[in-house]
Amino acid sequence: MIDFSLSEEQQQLQALAREFAEKEIVPNAAHHDETGEFPRAICQKAWDVGLMNTHIPAEYGGAGLGVVDGCLLAEEIARGCTGIGTAMEANTLAEGPIIVGASDEQKRRILTPMTEKFSLAAYCVTEPQAGSDVAGMKTTARKQGDDYVLKGQKMWITNGSAADWYFVVAYTDEAQKHRGMSAFYVPRDTPGIEVGKKEKNMGQRCSDTRAITFNDVVVPKKNLIGAEGKGWLLAMAAFDHSRPIVAAAAVGLARAAMDHAIRYAKERTAFGVPIHKHQSIAFMVAEMAMKIEAARLLVWQSAWKIDRGERNTREAAMAKAFAADSAMQVATDAVQVFGGYGFNKEYPVEKLMRDAKIFQIYEGTSQIQRLIIAREIFDRG
Ligand SMILES: Cc1cc2nc3c(=O)[nH]c(=O)nc-3n(C[C@H](O)[C@H](O)[C@H](O)COP(=O)(O)OP(=O)(O)OC[C@H]3O[C@@H](n4cnc5c(N)ncnc54)[C@H](O)[C@@H]3O)c2cc1C
Repeated sequence: MIDFSLSEEQQQLQALAREFAEKEIVPNAAHHDETGEFPRAICQKAWDVGLMNTHIPAEYGGAGLGVVDGCLLAEEIARGCTGIGTAMEANTLAEGPIIVGASDEQKRRILTPMTEKFSLAAYCVTEPQAGSDVAGMKTTARKQGDDYVLKGQKMWITNGSAADWYFVVAYTDEAQKHRGMSAFYVPRDTPGIEVGKKEKNMGQRCSDTRAITFNDVVVPKKNLIGAEGKGWLLAMAAFDHSRPIVAAAAVGLARAAMDHAIRYAKERTAFGVPIHKHQSIAFMVAEMAMKIEAARLLVWQSAWKIDRGERNTREAAMAKAFAADSAMQVATDAVQVFGGYGFNKEYPVEKLMRDAKIFQIYEGTSQIQRLIIAREIFDRG
């Protein structure tokens, strides 16, 4: 039986996130966009009310929520501001591989403190010369006695300076390519870590994106996640959990853009009628509504599958690509509905158009999602 209804608990979660976005995020979004100031206080409040780290299992002190639940929260938070939402969600990405592949002792040591005290984490995979092509990374982790020595540079790391710890993937054996990558938990205060300048990005401007350099950083063996050679698998497995959530955030952004477009189309008149009476405007909004509904269904399906313990790589890639491309289109069309005012910073939709673009780039570009979908079709049948 197909059932799209939400449980009472899910409706409460959704309402909590919606209220949080309305009260804490919407009134501050323009300020953080304008100044680029990191939204630490808002993240702290979100942690206080239980809106962060929601997927940490109950046995490690977390709420143990599923990916569907995470998607419901992400959509509402993103409707408020995706820059602030990204700062909140970076924890989800960094914690993902720990939840999937760390030992019980590591989970207690790494995840439980996240539920006891507000703290942030970052996922460090991309490098200056290697984004989509992860195997092109240069960072190495050389064995030295009972330790590993990390050397190399990561790029575009969300929460780079705000994080208390990093999830880092590095080569322990370059010759083995993907099978030679290993994953590490690295506390931020480990000697030899250099945090770069805050990158000046087009959108999501308050999200803290930095290069992180590891200058012979000594990592004890107890911080190797899983086993040597499992880094790639862990980093990618985390995407199956996080891509539906990122896609849900894109849906939230698109919803915000459509809401603004509807309101404006009712208020603005041209040629003696509200502009929504012009079919080209009404149809643009109808297209927005179709894209949002379709994207949300893909998001929910991909999240539902992984919550049931089924493989969702193909569905998560579809949800991510479709929701990201839809958010970009919806935000661009919202600017069009606003006409000249849409192009102006005094009005809300230009921010949404700038913020939307990153959804087609991070967590795997829209091209890479299509590559994954095509591989799933042709190689796995
Ligand atoms: C704001 C921001 C935040 C980020 N946060 C993080 C983070 O927290 N942690 C992290 O590890 N990374 C992060 N990233 C990195 C992000 O995941 C990469 O930028 C992304 O994967 C693309 O890699 P690239 O920039 O090297 O582009 P490239 O891989 O060089 O791609 C350039 C272009 O070529 C296309 N392309 C590449 N290969 C193929 C192919 N085989 N087929 C078709 N097209 C292809 C791409 O789609 C793209 O259009 C972030 C990036 C940004 C901008």
